[in-house]
Amino acid sequence: MRGSGPVLETINPANGEVHAAIGTPSSAEVEAICSDVSHSSALRSWQSMLPHQRAAVLHRIADGLVAGAEPMARAQMLENGKTLKECRAQAASAAGVFRYYAGVCETMESTMPPPRGNWLGLTTHEPYGLIAAITPWNSPLTMESQKVAPALAAGNAVVLKPSEVTTLPALELARICEEAGLPKGLLSVLPGYGTEVGPALIGHPDVRMVTFTGGTETGRRIGEQCARRLIPVALELGGKSPHILFEDADIPTACEGIIDGIFEGLGQSCIAGSRLFVHRSRMEEVLERLTEMTEKLRVGLPTDPNVDFGSLSSHQHRARVEQYVTLAREEGATVLVGGSRPTDPALAAGAFYLPTILTGLSNRSRVCQEEIFGPVLCVLPFDDEADLIDQANGTAFGLACGIWTADYRRGLKVARAIAAGTVWINTYKKLSIAAPFGGYKDSGLGREKGLAGMRLYQQTKSILLATE
Ligand code: NDP
Repeated sequence: MRGSGPVLETINPANGEVHAAIGTPSSAEVEAICSDVSHSSALRSWQSMLPHQRAAVLHRIADGLVAGAEPMARAQMLENGKTLKECRAQAASAAGVFRYYAGVCETMESTMPPPRGNWLGLTTHEPYGLIAAITPWNSPLTMESQKVAPALAAGNAVVLKPSEVTTLPALELARICEEAGLPKGLLSVLPGYGTEVGPALIGHPDVRMVTFTGGTETGRRIGEQCARRLIPVALELGGKSPHILFEDADIPTACEGIIDGIFEGLGQSCIAGSRLFVHRSRMEEVLERLTEMTEKLRVGLPTDPNVDFGSLSSHQHRARVEQYVTLAREEGATVLVGGSRPTDPALAAGAFYLPTILTGLSNRSRVCQEEIFGPVLCVLPFDDEADLIDQANGTAFGLACGIWTADYRRGLKVARAIAAGTVWINTYKKLSIAAPFGGYKDSGLGREKGLAGMRLYQQTKSILLATE
């Protein structure tokens, strides 16, 4: 778009070069775009379409995403440095999200509450109208489809503000939606800086609901702005998820899950299992195995099919990760592996960083309490279950948890005691668009995905009809 706000340059983090220059809207343009969409005939006719007609459009978008998967995947790779392999998988799953919500849109029913008199009750679910969606840079293909598909399915228009780091996947998504026959304006993308475009968007009187994924402090500010406006907000925020290994666990399988759980996407994942609690009796062998596995992980150019990880999403973010590793050393940590940039000269211009394992920290240290959002695993010992649960829950966050044990009764008991929105037992990071997802405590408000993910974008109305 050609807005009159500042020009946004996106940088390829794998080589530090400017990848694209994108116009951004001024506050007045944000105001005009939101007003136009919310009063458009396109929105009125979208809302009056029957659910199966809206579903047909969503299926066509899914087809468009399959056909356009490669440019989508490359757009994300060039902006956030993830491997092409991972970006391709995320593009494929974005198509699946649109198909899932096409199905939900067509099949979800209203209900009839039991009458308490001579009347019939109908509980129906109606769209809000205009939804503001704000997304982060780590997995835009995933985050944006998870918001846009259910919000459209529910009969809304969406104004999407992607991260300033990753604008192109959102623009590609909007193009595919339009080509698939989504009426013009029902998905508008506003590139720009969060602190400028964000408040103008959320403050617009026609925006009736906000859905946000990002950091906890940004989420708190957005929540405050929505509270003043008395509009609902869904917040998917940060995490510092505990990964637990009991003494009876299958150690080789658990270590595979632990390595994927923290290092996939170089730890730039809200559900990264960044605090590992190991029963003291198995600590030595677990550390030895994890170190050996981590040393074999390959960091390299995102286009190289033989590497496990690309670069971090930006040089600025790498500096933040490095500050945490410096802080860890000051807090008394031992760096078992990693803790530095790769030495390969071919990677010198990019924001690369090696997967890192730390020991010797207390659960109360800053490094174990604050979200690093990078490839840094802190390993801590525990002695008994009560001590473990205290430590695992001893954080402001509550997004996810992994438990490895041969004893399912114990697994379930601990799962119930952990304050987190998602708990895995003998696996980690398995996600399904059909399973509700969200955080406890400072990890968020509301649930995306699943049937709940569609209701998130609707308001409930009771209609009562006299029968006598
Ligand atoms: P930020 O919170 O910095 O930014 C997220 C989005 O909010 C960006 O689009 C940003 O724009 C925008 N923004 C910033 N300030 C404001 C404001 N005042 N008003 C409105 N919008 C604003 O997060 P990051 O992009 O750095 O992403 C990393 C964070 O996302 C991590 O904490 C991670 O845990 C969390 N996350 C949570 C997930 C979950 O499902 N729970 C999933 C993935 C990530 P700009 O880019 O221009 O600053």
